[in-house]
Amino acid sequence: MSISVFCLSCANVFKVNEAKAGKVVPCPKCGKMVRVSALPPVEAKPGPSLVHRFFQWIFNVVFFSVLAYLFYEGGFIGILCSWFQNIRHFLFG
Ligand SMILES: [Zn+2]
Repeated sequence: MSISVFCLSCANVFKVNEAKAGKVVPCPKCGKMVRVSALPPVEAKPGPSLVHRFFQWIFNVVFFSVLAYLFYEGGFIGILCSWFQNIRHFLFG
């Protein structure tokens, strides 16, 4: 497989080996150095296995449970309590 390279200096189009992807090669016509475009991702990687996805799911459930707990129990209620304490001092001395 080869990559088409367009020379900006002489508008020459030539092909180079894909091993040259992302490298700078001399134009065979005018000798100017031309950068070869990097190869696009060749093939999609196979998805994670079922076991992997299961552990990912477990991790997500635990992670978001902890997050929700921290937000509601620690964060939200905590903010509400401190806010109420301030208001109470302000209102009732
Ligand atoms: Zn050229």
